[in-house]
Amino acid sequence: MLVQRSRTGRTLRAALDNGRVEVHYQPQVDLSKQTVDTVEALVRLRDDTGQLIAPSEFIAYAEETGLIIPLSCAVLADACQQINRAQALGHRLHVAINVSIVQFAQPDFVDSLCEQCKTHGVEPSCIEIEITEGLLMRDADNLRGVLDQLRLHGFRVALDDFGTGYSSLAYLSQLPIDVLKIDMSFVSRLTTSRQCVSIATAIIQLGKSLHMGLIAEGVETQEQVDLLLAMGCKTMQGYFYSKPMPADELMAWLHLRNDAGREQACVDT
Ligand code: C2E
Ligand code: MG
Ligand code: MG
Repeated sequence: MLVQRSRTGRTLRAALDNGRVEVHYQPQVDLSKQTVDTVEALVRLRDDTGQLIAPSEFIAYAEETGLIIPLSCAVLADACQQINRAQALGHRLHVAINVSIVQFAQPDFVDSLCEQCKTHGVEPSCIEIEITEGLLMRDADNLRGVLDQLRLHGFRVALDDFGTGYSSLAYLSQLPIDVLKIDMSFVSRLTTSRQCVSIATAIIQLGKSLHMGLIAEGVETQEQVDLLLAMGCKTMQGYFYSKPMPADELMAWLHLRNDAGREQACVDT
C-alpha cells in the first residue's frame, strides 16, 4: 500500500515535471444533429516505462497532496490547445473538464480559469465544467457563488455521475446547472433492470422540466441507444461511439464524423 503510494507520487511528480501528463478526449454525440461539438477531457499519466496510468490510480493522491492544482492546469492547457487546433480546422469544439472539490474550494478558482482561457485565447463558453453530486453536498456554502461566477463568465456547468448521490431536488432546481450526465451505472443496466429504466426516465424528465441538457454516460450498445432515444435523451457518450482517444486521433475522428454528419443532414433535409 505504502509502496504503491510512493510509486504513484513519484510517477505523478515526474509526469508533471516532464510534460508526461496526457489528456484523452471522448466525444459526446448529439444524435439530433448527427454532430459532435463537445468532448470530455480525461487525464492519464505516462510512466517511465511508457505505460498509461488511469485516473482511478492517482486522482485521490493528487487531491490529498494538492498536486491536483498543477495537474488540472495541465489538463486545461491541453484542452485549450485542442480547441484552437479544431478551430483552425473549421470546428467549433467545446471541451468538458472534470473539476475536483479541492480546486473548487480555492478562492481564486474562477479567476484562474478565466486567466488560463485568456492566455490561450479561448472563450470560456468553449469550456464546460463537470462537477459531481458529491461536491454539491460537501461544498454547499461556497457552491452557489462559484456557480454564479462561472455562468457570469460564460462557462457551462455539467453535473457528472448524476443519480449516484443524494442531492436535494429542490436545491438542484435553484442552481445554475446546464447539463445533467446520467451515470453509467443506470445506462449499463437499462436492458436488464426495470428499476434502472425508471430511474433514467425520471432523470430525463427532471432534466427536461428544469431546462437542462442531458447526456447519457457509458453507452456501449445499440439497444441502450434505442432505449435512451425513446426516453428522450439524444446525446450519448460511451464506447459504442468511441473510447477516449489521444488528441491527434480526435482531430481525425472529428473531421470524418462531422463531415459525414453534415452530409447526412443534407440528405435528410
Ligand atoms: P467521469 O468523469 O465520470 O468519466 C467517465 C469515465 O468512464 C472515464 O473513465 C471514461 O473512460 C469511462 N467510460 C466512458 N465511456 C465508457 C463506456 O462506454 N464503458 C465504460 N466501462 N467506461 C466508459 P476514466 O478516464 O478512467 O476516468 C475516471 C474518472 O476519473 C472520471 O469519471 C473523473 O471522475 C476522473 N477524472 C478523469 N480526468 C480527470 C481530470 O482531469 N480531473 C479530475 N479532477 N478528475 C478526472
Ligand atoms: Mg466526467
Ligand atoms: Mg461520470
